[in-house]
Amino acid sequence: MWKNEERPLERFIEGAVAEAAERHPRGGWWRKPLLATATIDERFDILPKIAAPDHLKPSDLLPTARSLIVFFIPFVESLIKGNKKGERPCRDWGLSYIETNELIGNVCKGLADILEDYGYSSALTPATHNFNEEKLMARWSHKHLAYIAGLGRFGMHNLIITPMGCAGRLGSLVTEAELGDSRLIETEEACLMKAGKSCGKCMAACPVSAFKDDGFERRRCWDRLKENRADIPYFSDMPISTHVCGKCAAMMPCSFKNPVLSLKDHPKVHHEQ
Ligand code: SF4
Ligand code: SF4
Repeated sequence: MWKNEERPLERFIEGAVAEAAERHPRGGWWRKPLLATATIDERFDILPKIAAPDHLKPSDLLPTARSLIVFFIPFVESLIKGNKKGERPCRDWGLSYIETNELIGNVCKGLADILEDYGYSSALTPATHNFNEEKLMARWSHKHLAYIAGLGRFGMHNLIITPMGCAGRLGSLVTEAELGDSRLIETEEACLMKAGKSCGKCMAACPVSAFKDDGFERRRCWDRLKENRADIPYFSDMPISTHVCGKCAAMMPCSFKNPVLSLKDHPKVHHEQ
């Protein structure tokens, strides 16, 4: 029988990320991760509308799924600072992408193993490249799942801003275990502009002006990610799927924290910790 008093999933992911950092020759790219859960219910019915028309349902992955687990592994400041300079991503940004994909895979597997010990099956999807390349929409969108679970809120840059910011990576899985809801984001909005303040720094930082008045031009962004892998000499030894940029997440007010939390005139959302 599953008991969450000792928070075994949170303890596992924190340990897994800390161990990966210890083993890493340069001390790793990661800060303390966050993990949220959500009961699978009618809230997930909105996915085809807000994410992609052919977005998968949790039951498509696992017919007996009862809960979603979604986690965020934030990057360290030195990595994000290093990626701020110039119009192209730095080599470390590409390396961290590859290594974080591997870490996300290991974390998902480790979480599934813990749940398996309690007798619950789980189903995983890859951290990335699970999308329709024509429509450029994910059929399993970690971002939209993070939104539903209350791990974060969307920023103007189309990234999820969590209590630890937006510069990092998301992973998710579904499981038969009943884990309940554990919203983590402290405010209704976590982007300054969406909270009615001035900002827009992420949009100004985009080297290909992918943010237009009428929305986000996915194709411009995607073309740039592919171009970076194809054109940058110091990416030539990396896998062909190293599609990175990250300029809109580099040293922004929302890179490391939810900037709306410190606004005096913005109400906080009460939630259990
Ligand atoms: S940089 Fe500013 S406008 Fe862009 S997502 Fe962050 S808080 Fe919002
Ligand atoms: S990842 Fe790069 S190209 Fe894409 S929106 Fe952000 S800044 Fe623009």
